[in-house]
Amino acid sequence: MEEKKTFRDLGLSEEILQAIEKKGFEEPSPIQALTIPILLKGDKNIIGQAQTGTGKTAAFGLPILDTLTSSNNKNVQALILAPTRELAVQVSDELISLKGEKRLSVAAIYGGQAMGEQLRRLRRGVDIVVGTPGRVQDHINRGSLDLSNLSYLILDEADEMLNMGFVDDIEKILETVNEDKKMLLFSATMPSKIQQIAKKYMGDYELFKVKNRDLTSDLTEQIYFEVNRSDKFEALCRIVDIEEEFFGIVFCRTKVDVDDVSQKLSERGYSSGALHGDISQAMRERILSQLKSKQINILVATDVAARGIDVNHLSHVINYSLPQDAESYVHRVGRTGRAGNEGTAITFVTKDEYRKLLYIQRVSGKNIKKDEIPGVDKIIS
Ligand code: ADP
Ligand code: MG
Repeated sequence: MEEKKTFRDLGLSEEILQAIEKKGFEEPSPIQALTIPILLKGDKNIIGQAQTGTGKTAAFGLPILDTLTSSNNKNVQALILAPTRELAVQVSDELISLKGEKRLSVAAIYGGQAMGEQLRRLRRGVDIVVGTPGRVQDHINRGSLDLSNLSYLILDEADEMLNMGFVDDIEKILETVNEDKKMLLFSATMPSKIQQIAKKYMGDYELFKVKNRDLTSDLTEQIYFEVNRSDKFEALCRIVDIEEEFFGIVFCRTKVDVDDVSQKLSERGYSSGALHGDISQAMRERILSQLKSKQINILVATDVAARGIDVNHLSHVINYSLPQDAESYVHRVGRTGRAGNEGTAITFVTKDEYRKLLYIQRVSGKNIKKDEIPGVDKIIS
């Protein structure tokens, strides 16, 4: 299997890496890992195709923020076209949060917002404009938006823009901008009309496509519970109690959590073992053989410690802490439901982790359903 890339591996600058960290992105999504290194080299027009919700904004946003330097507001350097006012605002917010301390100005320009305000904003100068095609076209006609010095022109959510009937506006805009810009096109789907536009306006381009994952092929039932942090342990005990035969792995994020959970389980009389990086090889082997012979039925472990262990017929995987990223989710969940056996994967999610769960769900292509622990609604927030 290919080594997992970090944002640093992709070649982004320290300044941008800091902003990414602050934003809380831990690793690049598949489309980001594909397009960022290419765009940082800066010699190609590209099309990026990936499912909705898989980080296409940062896939073009990070490299353009990284490669641009402020023109001191002399001219617009990047124009991003987006289908709706909401998306224009969303993209512009995302860029602002990803630029960190870098001195680049970003403005969203869309229909419905007062013209006067937009005109003042443009007159003061903007490095990156995110706009809806109709309103951008208006500004070009009025002479209030100079697009003769672009480094980048980006069509974001291109399929949606076509659905909204913006083809003519887009083509007019493409005909007015300078020829030597890089052109990027991002879309979830690639209808033939988009391919025609690409052929006509993009010259040589390269296509990067992330295949949709299959949502149905899992043998493992995947559910999540909303749980307060302080109620997680109780929730775990209930799950083990209501199962006729619980035989599973409980994943925690840190060694401290692993020790804590496994100690509390022992105090309550459950037969469990702990596995993490500070546990000696001899102890580790003992615990694994206890698990295989079912002397213990709960293994509490970190991701690293659980890697490569091969135990058949696990009934459950419990994500006591949310996995770091989609790949780790897939790894964890893959420990059950093997070889035709059914299994259940349960993820505990606190309210503030909910967005991250959605992201993991989209990138992994897994279908994780909300459920409630029977009879314990009072401990669910
Ligand atoms: P798309 O354009 O593909 O539909 P977006 O760019 O709108 O997707 O991203 C969807 C959500 O995922 C946003 O909330 C964004 O902040 C988040 N996101 C993007 N990249 C990452 C990442 N590498 N790690 C975690 N979250 C991410
Ligand atoms: Mg998008």
